Amino acid sequence: MYSKTPQDLAALTYYGLYALQHRGQESAGMVIGDCGVLSSCKDTGLVSEAFSKEKLAALGKGNIAVGHVRYATTGHDSRRNIQPLLINHRKGRMALAHNGNLTNSYELRTALEEKGSIFHTTTDSEVIAYVIVQERLKKGSIEEAVASAMDILEGAYSLVLASPSKLIAARDPHGFRPLCMGQRPDGTIVFASETCALDAVGAQFLRDIAPGEVVTVSESGLRSDSSHCSTACRSLCVFEYIYFARPDSVVDGQSVCLARQRAGMFLAQEHKLDADIVIGVPDSGLDAAIGYSAASGIPYAIGFTKNKYIGRTFISPTQDERESGVNIKLNPIKPVVAGKRVVMVDDSIVRGTTCRRTIQMLKDAGAKEVHMLVSAPPFIAPCYYGTDIDSAEGLIANHHTTCEIAAIIGADSLGYLSLEHAMQLAGRNASLCTSCFSGKYPTAVPSHTEKDRFEQKITKG
Ligand code: AMP
Repeated sequence: MYSKTPQDLAALTYYGLYALQHRGQESAGMVIGDCGVLSSCKDTGLVSEAFSKEKLAALGKGNIAVGHVRYATTGHDSRRNIQPLLINHRKGRMALAHNGNLTNSYELRTALEEKGSIFHTTTDSEVIAYVIVQERLKKGSIEEAVASAMDILEGAYSLVLASPSKLIAARDPHGFRPLCMGQRPDGTIVFASETCALDAVGAQFLRDIAPGEVVTVSESGLRSDSSHCSTACRSLCVFEYIYFARPDSVVDGQSVCLARQRAGMFLAQEHKLDADIVIGVPDSGLDAAIGYSAASGIPYAIGFTKNKYIGRTFISPTQDERESGVNIKLNPIKPVVAGKRVVMVDDSIVRGTTCRRTIQMLKDAGAKEVHMLVSAPPFIAPCYYGTDIDSAEGLIANHHTTCEIAAIIGADSLGYLSLEHAMQLAGRNASLCTSCFSGKYPTAVPSHTEKDRFEQKITKG
């Protein structure tokens, strides 16, 4: 956030991060800039755990703020990796928040280390900070340094960074991860991964940051550098619509809720079923179930109650936690499903753990048949752009056919969305990254893909 005059940006950033909690639940942090002095507050846990009233008050007023919620895709969820990173460099200080995953971070970090650079974290985000700082030494301004760093950085990065006097937002030329801009009635400029955060802080949506664009806000106003923009390589992650983003957000001009409903309608075209009710697995399966019901004529019902006080199971750091998390998270509503032929819609099958349990729950609650529909194609290939799926090993669809998966998860039938339809979730002209469904990547594949690649460097050293 950038405001011309100092105000309580810590409180506003807190609200914004709260709205983005679904994007990362491991840790949260913010940096507030006041008259050129950058102060930071960060901790592990949810936004409500990381910040107390006292801590927010201690940050004081400011005119620049950068916040972050973390879901680790490179480096463990340890304290040292909490963002925003606050860096001291030759030309001043810098706070950096990063969403995404670089594909050349191993090579960049190795080259920097060979020249004697010391890293404090095991994230790829610190590599970005280093590259920007190095470019800053050659360039006249921080925004030129960011633009020049874009020639070096590869992969997925939506960035918000603050210098003592400027706020900069930048999005990689593919636009893998979303980034948008809004404005509060008092003129405060707000950048956020999703429009739901703009709504939370009372900011009006202005526009998305274009893939490859660098936007700078300072005392002299708002400037945009589009020298790295090219419509040719746009590839927003399709999973933003399928799973990551909140349904009330609009990502690159497309409502997430409507994209999910569209997925359900496509499923109805592709998979005609004889059934009594359609239910969605909360939360990301709900809109697709509504779309399926509307297009198929099979009545929609609420088949599960979700415990609102539990975070996304997938974000639990171990498989054990993930498995136990499913039980406490969802409970079928017996009178709704008992004796019925149920169509159950969920957003995706990754390892197959979640749906095996949800189907079992429905059967235990008396469902006569459970037909599973997935509002995404089979997930067959790793993702290198920030979804924490760095190898094909655990992906059930990589090793099994749809029939085999149906048997493993205990479904009476199983149907996926076709790749052709997945590519149209944001409209016919959208250009989405669907590499996890096709194995075809819009960038070079990284040489080292392990999430803990920099931890390994430390232990080996
Ligand atoms: P699994 O139990 O491994 O099959 O995981 C499937 C569930 O994880 C889905 O129901 C989604 O809600 C969630 N999920 C799917 N894809 C992702 C992803 N890329 N990152 C985090 N969670 C995901």
